[in-house]
Amino acid sequence: MIHFDSIEISCPYCSEINVLNIELEKASSDVIISDCGVCCRAFEVIIRTDPDGNLNVEVKNEEGF
Ligand SMILES: [Zn+2]
Repeated sequence: MIHFDSIEISCPYCSEINVLNIELEKASSDVIISDCGVCCRAFEVIIRTDPDGNLNVEVKNEEGF
């Protein structure tokens, strides 16, 4: 079963909100490299879902913040 969602990510550099559309199975994880729509800097988004389909999202900048 595929889980679709859109998530709001706060940019680790400028704190602006970016919306990402993701497509993820339950109980899986994915890493997305995204560019901020405001400051254009790249950041890493680590997304995990548990077996119930709940999302856990972690954002990292280039310094590993
Ligand atoms: Zn930004």
